[in-house]
Amino acid sequence: MGKPQISRAGLLSRREAIGRVAGAGLGIVSVLRAGEGAGVASPARQTRTTNPPYPSWNTEMRQLAPNVYAYTQAGGPHVPSSAISNGACIVGADHYLAIDAFAAPPHTKAFLAAANKTTGGKSCDRLINTHHHADHTTGNCFFLPAEIVGHEYCRQAVIKGGISDLRGRPESWKVGAQELKLAPPVTTFDDNSKITYHYGNTEVHLMFGGPAHTWGDTLIYLPQYKILWAGDIAFFYVAPAAQSGHISKWIEAIDRITKMDVDVIVPGHGPIGSKKELAETREYLVFLKQEARRRYDAGVSPGRAAAEIDARLGKFESWTDPAAIRTVNSVVRLYAEFKDTLTPETDGETTRAATAEYNAVKTRSR
Ligand SMILES: [Zn+2]
Repeated sequence: MGKPQISRAGLLSRREAIGRVAGAGLGIVSVLRAGEGAGVASPARQTRTTNPPYPSWNTEMRQLAPNVYAYTQAGGPHVPSSAISNGACIVGADHYLAIDAFAAPPHTKAFLAAANKTTGGKSCDRLINTHHHADHTTGNCFFLPAEIVGHEYCRQAVIKGGISDLRGRPESWKVGAQELKLAPPVTTFDDNSKITYHYGNTEVHLMFGGPAHTWGDTLIYLPQYKILWAGDIAFFYVAPAAQSGHISKWIEAIDRITKMDVDVIVPGHGPIGSKKELAETREYLVFLKQEARRRYDAGVSPGRAAAEIDARLGKFESWTDPAAIRTVNSVVRLYAEFKDTLTPETDGETTRAATAEYNAVKTRSR
């Protein structure tokens, strides 16, 4: 995972070339390198002269405030998969609180090793799931006996989803897969409730942020430091994944965050940022909605619409995972929204048909 993609003939594509730039300029307080030694090494960095449209970022535990750390996993134009989610470590007197559990055992174990180093050996007593997707919950069991907390929809969806079989994932992600067991949130809250935890002097506020990316999106807000973990409501330089989303309500959720007293935003995917990057997530979603609406009104089928929209991504084309499944999922969700048939669950049948059509259109246009 995360190896630089040297192309067939040793040449770099344009996207690969612009990604080979050190992930600089994200410093807030200090950086603790992490992730080494557990199969989740940071990709090698090469400085290029090309001006990048966006940065690469590292696997690291980054201090944002006293006893408050964001954990990011390396990404950028050179990383082929975007199931590379972020987390957190908020340290109290005796224990720490974590946010999200990552996609596969090696990722979770790398985080736990980094947190162990950061906290001087304290254990995690509480894990928050920002939402149910497997790239945020597969490693839940490795945090036990910590209390796992999430929105009530997140609990239901984790149980329904079962243990991730890591199908389609790289072999390196499957190391330790036999240790996985189902560990859904055991403490839940609903759309209208808020929870406040105290870790040392740090207040940690939990609140419902959706429906947006899912029907169970949780925001974790640290008012003293104006820091927000937005989960997958925020995708920075990674194409938003909308297979469980309501894109119009997602845009509204971003507008609510924009009104919050927030300086630093940790996205579900991508480097640490701010409202500036969140505005770009919004721009991407608005673009998708406008383009899909036009084609829906003209009677264009979803697979063809997705193929046409893919060809018009413009500056978003260079984001991680911009095409194919991401655009098809978004268009299928948007068409259901326009038809008023959208449900929280992914419509697998429609998505498969749209994907087949998308592939046929793309093949014919080559
Ligand atoms: Zn997600």
